[in-house]
Amino acid sequence: MVKLDAMENPYRLPPALQLEIARAVEGAELNRYPDPGAVRLKSCLRQVFEVPPGVELLLGNGSDEIIQMLIMAAARPGAAVLGLDPSFVMFRMIAAFCSVRFAGVPLRADFGLDIERVLESIEREQPALVFVAYPNNPTGNLFDHQAIERLIQAAPGLVVVDEAYHAFAGRSFLPQLETYPNLLVMRTLSKIGLAGLRLGVLAGAGTWLRHIDKVRLPYNVSVLTQIVAERVLAHGDVLAQQAAAITVERTRLVGEMKRIPGVRPYPSDANFVLFRTTGAQPVFDGLKQRGVLVKNLHGSHPALAECLRVTVGTSEENSRFLDALKQAVNAS
Ligand code: PMP
Repeated sequence: MVKLDAMENPYRLPPALQLEIARAVEGAELNRYPDPGAVRLKSCLRQVFEVPPGVELLLGNGSDEIIQMLIMAAARPGAAVLGLDPSFVMFRMIAAFCSVRFAGVPLRADFGLDIERVLESIEREQPALVFVAYPNNPTGNLFDHQAIERLIQAAPGLVVVDEAYHAFAGRSFLPQLETYPNLLVMRTLSKIGLAGLRLGVLAGAGTWLRHIDKVRLPYNVSVLTQIVAERVLAHGDVLAQQAAAITVERTRLVGEMKRIPGVRPYPSDANFVLFRTTGAQPVFDGLKQRGVLVKNLHGSHPALAECLRVTVGTSEENSRFLDALKQAVNAS
């Protein structure tokens, strides 16, 4: 199968870097617990992500684990978490696992942020936490920067801007951490080439992170994750080049998809493209029959009726997807 369903980076690491990782892992002290503070890794991350001075970092076993820590830390009786709808499903799911009320504010029909509705919900729900994915998954767009600033100013609690797809968007709220004391910014290495490693990063004021750290399990980031991430981040240019190649392919992919009758791709600032078709299920099945796996979002939310989501792959994978899509749409 051509696997284009999970927003993974399609490229492997260059052989020289693979060898460097193998050597570093060979010497790893696997009999010891990892450094619970991951001091060396955090200093690499600060450099690569250009974290402003004074801002601190908390690490997770993927950003999924950070979302869990945030919601667990906020889960007092009566607390609410606010998110946008549709957005990343784990915000809602983890709130449910932690028995925390989740208020989802519908996006506009064009998937933009409906700031008036968001402000009304904030006023009504008084959420302890607000999650904003920037760019948003599964819609792929960046919300209006000023609207998010209004949301941050109005929120009575913490606002987490989830920048999982930052490498493909180039816009960030990291600089705003110095302006807004209730803002936290989350990143992950998953979309830029290390989904198998599991490393998520939360950046923000130490006064907040120290409380969230109370619910973190002591050794959540393994010895191997720390060593490998340090080696790869020392070659941050490799990841940046791969992200740039994916961004170029995204433009080609959207352009070609627009030319297929019955296919409507939405603009994307991420490494995936949401598109509407005449029939999501038959097109999904047709793609699968032709060896291409995408994500079927039909049925997950009314705004996503007849929608599929495809991850941007290598040039060859995207061509295979486009051929299969033309055939699947014709046959359906
Ligand atoms: N946030 C968003 C917006 C995502 O789309 C994803 C992955 N689909 C994640 C967080 C979780 O990423 P990970 O746990 O791999 O870091």
